[in-house]
Amino acid sequence: MPVSLASADAASSALPFTAALALLPPGVLTGFAIVIGLVVGSFLNVVIHRLPIMLERAWRADAADALGHAEPSGELFADDGLPARYNLWLPRSACPHCGHVLRAWENIPLVSWLALRGRCSHCHARVSARYPAIEIASAACAAAALLAFGPSGKALAAFVLCASLIAMSAIDLEHQLLPDALTLPLVWAGLLVNLAETFTDLHAAVIGAVAGYLALWCVYWLFRLLRGVEGMGHGDFKLLAALGAWLGWSALPQIVVIAAVAGAIVGLVATASGRMRFEEPLPFGPYLAAGALVTLFAGTPLYAAFAWGI
Ligand SMILES: [Zn+2]
Repeated sequence: MPVSLASADAASSALPFTAALALLPPGVLTGFAIVIGLVVGSFLNVVIHRLPIMLERAWRADAADALGHAEPSGELFADDGLPARYNLWLPRSACPHCGHVLRAWENIPLVSWLALRGRCSHCHARVSARYPAIEIASAACAAAALLAFGPSGKALAAFVLCASLIAMSAIDLEHQLLPDALTLPLVWAGLLVNLAETFTDLHAAVIGAVAGYLALWCVYWLFRLLRGVEGMGHGDFKLLAALGAWLGWSALPQIVVIAAVAGAIVGLVATASGRMRFEEPLPFGPYLAAGALVTLFAGTPLYAAFAWGI
C-alpha cells in the first residue's frame, strides 16, 4: 500500500508510544497523567522520608571508618531503631508510631489517606498531611506537563524535573539539605535532555550549568567574607547548576529573582508572626524550585515585563 511521504515523516519523527498516546481522548490522557503523577508522588514520599535517613547512616559509617571504629555487623537493628537493611525498597512501609505494616489497600496514593481520614488503621495516630500534599503536587505537575507540552518526550522530561524538584524541596524544608544524590544526577539529566534541544540548545545548557553554580558560589563567598556567615548551602549551587542545565543560562536571572523575592516575603512574614527568628537560615531550595516551575511552564514573563517597561 502506498504511504504518503508526509505521514511517513510524521511516523518516523514521533516515538511510537507517544504517537499512540496522542490518539487517546484528551480527558483520558489527563486522567492517565494524574494517576501516574499520584503513583510517582507516592514514591517521592518514600524518597523524602528515607533518603535523609540513608544518608545519615552513610555519613556515620564513613565517620566511624575514618576514626578507625569497627562497624557493628550482623545486627538486625541500627542505632536509629530502624532495621539494619534499610533502603528505598526495604523494609515495607509501616506506621512510624506503631510499626503496623501497611497492607496494599492502605498504600493507594491519596485514596487510602482520604479513606482512613489521615489516621493509621491500627493505632489511629495521625498520618501527616504531607503525604497526600506531595501526591497532589506530583499529579498537578504531571497534568500541567501534559497540558503544556502535549503527549511527548518533552512532557515526560518536564515531569521528571518537577518530581525531582518536589522531592528536593520537601527534604530541604525538613532537613535543610539538598542531597548530592538528587542534585548531581539532575545536572547530568538536564544536559542529556538538551542534547536533543528539548528545552534549550546544548550550548545554553552547558553555560547554564556552569553559570548557575558560579552565581551562587560567588554569593556564598561574598556573604562569608563580608559577614563571616554561610548564607546558603553548597546544595543550592548544585541545584541552580541543574536548573541552568535544564532551562539554559538565560532562565537563571528570572529563577533567582523569583526565588529571592518569594524567600524574602516568606522570611519576613514568618519572622513578623514569630514563627522564625531573623537570623535563622531559610532553606533556599524550595524557592529556587518555585522559580524553575514558573519558568518551565510560563516562560520568562519577567523579561517581557522588563522589556515592555523600558
Ligand atoms: Zn499506627
